[in-house]
Amino acid sequence: MPLLKMKGIGRTYNVGDSETQALVDVDLEISEGDFLAILGPSGSGKSTLLNVLALLDRPTGGSYCVNGDDVTGMGERQRDALRSEMFGFVFQASHVMSEESSARNVALGLRIQSVGHREREMRVGPALERVGLLHRKDAPGKNLSGGERQRLALARALATNPRVLFADEPTGNLDVANTERVIEELKSLNAQGMTVVVITHDPAVAAAARSQVTIVDGVLAQSTVRAEEMRTSRSSNLPASESYVADSTALVHLGQRPTRWRGIVDDVFDALTALTSRTGRTMLLIIAFMLGSGGLVMSVGLSQSASSQVSERLAQAALDEFQVSLSASGAQATKAPPSDQRKTIEGLAGVVDVGLRYDLASKDMKPSRLEPGLTVQEPTFAGSLLAADSHYLALNGAVVEPSSALSLLDESFGKPVVLIGRETATRWGISAAGPDQKIWVGGQPVPVVGVIESPGRNQLLSDSIVIGIGGFDDPLSTNPVFIVRTVPGFPAPLSDAVPLALNAAHPEYFTVSTVADLRSLTRGVKNDLSVFISIISWVLLALACLSSATSMYLTVQTRKSEIALRRAIGTSRASIRRMFVLEGLLVGTGGGLAGGAAGMVALLVVCLQQGWTPVLGLEAVTMGVVAGAVTGVLAAVYPAISASRANPAQAIRG
Ligand code: ADP
Repeated sequence: MPLLKMKGIGRTYNVGDSETQALVDVDLEISEGDFLAILGPSGSGKSTLLNVLALLDRPTGGSYCVNGDDVTGMGERQRDALRSEMFGFVFQASHVMSEESSARNVALGLRIQSVGHREREMRVGPALERVGLLHRKDAPGKNLSGGERQRLALARALATNPRVLFADEPTGNLDVANTERVIEELKSLNAQGMTVVVITHDPAVAAAARSQVTIVDGVLAQSTVRAEEMRTSRSSNLPASESYVADSTALVHLGQRPTRWRGIVDDVFDALTALTSRTGRTMLLIIAFMLGSGGLVMSVGLSQSASSQVSERLAQAALDEFQVSLSASGAQATKAPPSDQRKTIEGLAGVVDVGLRYDLASKDMKPSRLEPGLTVQEPTFAGSLLAADSHYLALNGAVVEPSSALSLLDESFGKPVVLIGRETATRWGISAAGPDQKIWVGGQPVPVVGVIESPGRNQLLSDSIVIGIGGFDDPLSTNPVFIVRTVPGFPAPLSDAVPLALNAAHPEYFTVSTVADLRSLTRGVKNDLSVFISIISWVLLALACLSSATSMYLTVQTRKSEIALRRAIGTSRASIRRMFVLEGLLVGTGGGLAGGAAGMVALLVVCLQQGWTPVLGLEAVTMGVVAGAVTGVLAAVYPAISASRANPAQAIRG
């Protein structure tokens, strides 16, 4: 039974309206151990015939059997597997992988066959030795000469121990010495039992073949078999060397490659090699993904830290604090001075302390470090300006330096005094309070009698000017706010009782606000910031995805020849797709991990600066990494599909 048997094979190319019959009714039989040269003028159909023989192309008519099995209707995966198991290829353009070492180039076919690492090593060395390249085993493909590359291609083909070696103009680009060497190799392989099918223009190669066919205009014209070869019994030549003898069980394995995992490990390795051989590009892509996912991690962290910061304090305050203020209509109708109202509130059961505060407008009081009228104009004070008593600061837990200044808020012997927050003091160049430290408020100089070193519960006190109500001329022009500190759990009942106690007839004059009302407001403000950062981060991630997709697509274009080679020697489309998707996954995950770390560092910096406790859930970091990985994979989808569509026949055409 012939190993390869064609009957009535036709191959027609339809391009637009024109039709080219590249093969017409070809009958051809090639037996195991043959050395066949296909000759013919350019454009006669030689490559088309070789492509169909080697399962790189499908005929449009006729039948083709490999080892007795009809392969014309065989599925793509099975054909891939059959090529990988049975055929070896040497092309005119040697198609070596230029970034990979000679050893890895030779191992490519074995990797596709899912041969284990140890066995690969055992086979790669002898294959390289056989073609005289063992000393170049670590050299990358791009550093080899033309002749060396062609020998490398030969080593790659014979390492898989193929039953049939297809060679398309293998000496087309070589000088005389290298041509002779390749011819000797082909003869020697054939002598050891390998079937060789070669397309050639070179009379020397043709002369080495046992038989020749000539093809003209797609028609097999003439077949010559050298007489002395006919007499030689092929079987007497077989098998000189164990390693290059065909495995007669190859067909039995079709479609069921040994281990899937080994294939995936190799794909990961290929993806890593592709990434590490273009480090500049890889680093830029990783940075792009890092910025996107780092921003995401940071925005989630910021929102978590800010809300925990705010809610922690407010939750604490909500347990034991509420505020009562007098409405405008209430202020007109109520004659009782604030001090009396304070006493009334203090007298209620469950009340621990009552502080008094007046919120003042900076635009009215124009607080300033400098005397009004001086040429240097200061911007409007942006901190909080209020008049308050010592209870107010005490119940907030504010720390004042010197502490004796606190009592001056209530009684300053007819003269106004102020306390200022630490931030305000630093900004205005006041290191410590003292009689000569004055600021201007309401058009008059006021001594700074104390600095609020720690704001306690109320962060706003850090940047504030607190005027003592004792010496303040006109506190009643604005409405007072009572801050009521209660026994824990009492704000709810007391907030109903206080307005009634102050004015039983008109409790509606008083507005009670619990801290919980403020909480949603503050949280909303903080979230705006993190929403903003997270929107920017998603945009960055989308850009990273886009630039990665573009770069990967361009890489696919430059690696076309390598991809075609992989397809030709049996890599499945799925495996090609997997290789690129893995590349995207690795870059995206790398960027995601780097982004997770960068996001955490950025969050730490911001929190340190703000004096917050950083809060970052593991899920936020995971989200950053996953977002990087997912966008990395998304970026690879189109390039991967486009790579897997490569037509293996292109490899032969070069
Ligand atoms: P050879 O290898 O002998 O030079 P080919 O097999 O490459 O010849 O080509 C045989 C004929 O088929 C030529 O006329 C060529 O133009 C045509 N041909 C080959 N490949 C294609 C293709 N992909 N599309 C259209 N026509 C093609």
